[in-house]
Amino acid sequence: MNSEPLCLLSVHAHPDDEASKGAATVAKYAAEGIRGVLVCCTGGEEGDILNPAVDTPEVRADLTNVRVKELENSADAIGYASLQMLGYRDSGMKDSDANSHAENFANAPFDEAVEKLVRIIRAERPQVLITYGDESAYYPHPDHVKVHQISMPAFEAAGDAEAFPDAGSPWQPKKIYYTGWSGRRIKALHEAFLARGEESPYVGWLERGIDGRDDHRFTTFIDVSDFLHKRREALLAHRTQVDPDGFWMRLPDDVIRAVFPFEEFILAHSLVDNHVGDGDVEDDLFAGLRTETRATV
Ligand SMILES: [Zn+2]
Repeated sequence: MNSEPLCLLSVHAHPDDEASKGAATVAKYAAEGIRGVLVCCTGGEEGDILNPAVDTPEVRADLTNVRVKELENSADAIGYASLQMLGYRDSGMKDSDANSHAENFANAPFDEAVEKLVRIIRAERPQVLITYGDESAYYPHPDHVKVHQISMPAFEAAGDAEAFPDAGSPWQPKKIYYTGWSGRRIKALHEAFLARGEESPYVGWLERGIDGRDDHRFTTFIDVSDFLHKRREALLAHRTQVDPDGFWMRLPDDVIRAVFPFEEFILAHSLVDNHVGDGDVEDDLFAGLRTETRATV
């Protein structure tokens, strides 16, 4: 069992990904006193301004700093204790002009990017890592693909004294999860929009195949009923990226709570002896990692 304080570390590609993927889960653990570390690999320099209310020349001229500030506000709303930038440039979509910048995350030398992540893991000592699965079939953004590619090698190398010896003392995380949206969630939200007589923004997602065919891969469902407002607050912190009257924000939290009050994850690799898998599901990312402190009655 663990004597170290519990800690989770999430790896995300761009500012705002931390708000749309797993935010309420991290908020729930933060409320429990579990330390959250956010690693953001890029500065989101290629993002468009998607909220007309803040599309001004001043914001456009200073977009990099504006997005970092938005990220800090979002991380605060979620309750992350630490925000670490991996320090790369947003790569833009495949075949775009931005995609050729040498300082892009997608173009970063593989070992260099893994070492940077290993250095943070060893300094922060998380038991649980959250990253992306291989979602290239659904959302082939080069930065999201790269997050997936560096995370598993970093998980393994962090505990290996022979790997990256200049990047700190070895620390082996115990579990690594993929964050994701199940078809069950998409369908529940889609149907909730239709039931309210509104157009569903999820039609395209269902057409891209996020329709439940991969749902058997999800191992872990976190009940975030009481933390949906934190997710909303985090999304709204990204003022340039999220239109308060748009897509993400139209379904009220009480409706979401009624139809799908979970965030779902795939346990990608575990060094803990637990029984999740084969159709079983768990409700705690720290299952098997908690020291039993409750007195028996
Ligand atoms: Zn992203």
